[in-house]
Amino acid sequence: MLITDLVGALGAAHVLTDPDVTVSYETDWTGAFRGRAVAVARPATTDQVAAVLRICARHGVPVVPQGGNTGLVGGSVPAGAAAGAVVLSLRRLTAIEPVDAAAGLVTAGAGATLADVQAHARAAGYGVGVDFAARDSATVGGIAASNAGGERVLRHGMTRGQVAGLEVVLADGSVLRRLSGLPKDNVGYDLPSLFVGSEGTLGVITKVQLRLVGLPAARTAALLAVSDLPAAVGLVATLRATVASLDAVELVFGDGVDLVCAHQGRPAPFPGRPFPQDTPYLLVECVGPTDPTGDLAAAVETATGVLDAVVATTATDRERLWAYREGHTAAVNALDVPLKLDVAVPLARMSAFVDDLRALVPAVAPSARLHLWGHLAEANLHVNVTGLDRGDTGGREELTTAILTRAAADGGSIGAEHGVGRAKMAWVGLSRSPAELAVLAAVKHALDPTGLLNPGVIVSPGLTGSYRV
Ligand SMILES: Cc1cc2nc3c(=O)[nH]c(=O)nc-3n(C[C@H](O)[C@H](O)[C@H](O)COP(=O)(O)OP(=O)(O)OC[C@H]3O[C@@H](n4cnc5c(N)ncnc54)[C@H](O)[C@@H]3O)c2cc1C
Repeated sequence: MLITDLVGALGAAHVLTDPDVTVSYETDWTGAFRGRAVAVARPATTDQVAAVLRICARHGVPVVPQGGNTGLVGGSVPAGAAAGAVVLSLRRLTAIEPVDAAAGLVTAGAGATLADVQAHARAAGYGVGVDFAARDSATVGGIAASNAGGERVLRHGMTRGQVAGLEVVLADGSVLRRLSGLPKDNVGYDLPSLFVGSEGTLGVITKVQLRLVGLPAARTAALLAVSDLPAAVGLVATLRATVASLDAVELVFGDGVDLVCAHQGRPAPFPGRPFPQDTPYLLVECVGPTDPTGDLAAAVETATGVLDAVVATTATDRERLWAYREGHTAAVNALDVPLKLDVAVPLARMSAFVDDLRALVPAVAPSARLHLWGHLAEANLHVNVTGLDRGDTGGREELTTAILTRAAADGGSIGAEHGVGRAKMAWVGLSRSPAELAVLAAVKHALDPTGLLNPGVIVSPGLTGSYRV
């Protein structure tokens, strides 16, 4: 029996089958994706992860790896082709090794949260080059598995750029370990990189070795109200060219900021200045060894289209400004279960894209409310739609097709930083050619020939003809 074998490997306390307990593992953060697990397995060591995979392989039961369950594309829950899977929760793998100060590296268990790893690095005088609002729940294993982006990509790149090594358990229970930390090690294919962004479909990440970044002595944030989106994009160009300390350029709009203020009970950032609802606001942050406020102010003073600005130099004031940006995901989710899309469109085409979305969404779904925000420096826009009928799957798919087709037509990506998960499976072909899809399927088949790991994510189970789901 599957459950008996799992209990034998992990102990009864760490094999959950009570529906009242498993429900939180079966439902994603947004509430949009719900599945059904035969059990939730909670191993505490790499050996136990390997044992769970061997047991599931023997019983022919698929496995859905899960970290903090904050991924926004449904990849962490046992739904669709993974219904009835074992959810493999990595949250007990929380050990963080001492920082290697000379190499600037830290190795953490996959279940350590980003916030815990950040605090651990900070205590050794280092920072982590990845950061975003879900830091208290998202795990480093999940971050690596989804190649998370976030708010520091401008300076440090996506998670792939931060991962120096990984420990991964393969579908057959064998352990692949590349944790040497050597910055130069060109012996064959770069296997850790293959698992970054694989969304639990190629192996289970049990340890993540991260490159650390220096902690800047000074930080300044500013919230800028800008006349329109072309001016905001122009400002990105100016800031990139003239402000060497630039660290982040995030985009929100007036209506989104109002929503966050209502949700969190915050005062408006520009009291007494009622800008139109579609006014873009840029949250800009600069970091450096000395106070970067002067550089930022000089660039903003000469820029066209800046209507108003609030500057924050203390940690408390910066947090207050960031709350207007980071509060968006939760504030929109509090309205209802949104349709969540995450696209990238070349910056030069961003304004036309947004104009088209503002026309397209009400034309396809008259009751809908469109919410836009994102990471402007990386041309990454989060497109959320509320006010849709929850049960109207066809309507949601029609709207998704319209928005993603429009993004792809501009040479954009249909999955910028959140990945494919279960949410984007039907649209992967808009962003990847048949030749690329064939390689994805071949890689999947080579590492997981029976389709044990997260079936229905990234590669369609039917593509190799041999997945057992
Ligand atoms: C408020 C909020 C803000 C967010 N902001 C951002 C943002 O700015 N940028 C961004 O990129 N994302 C963002 N996200 C999305 C999410 O936090 C990230 O995708 C994060 O990396 C997911 O980590 P997790 O531990 O929750 O993974 P989960 O949600 O548990 O899993 C995500 C995927 O990875 C797989 N997986 C998880 N752990 C492992 C493992 N150890 N081994 C193999 N596969 C695994 C799962 O099967 C799933 O496919 C945000 C989410 C929220 C709720």
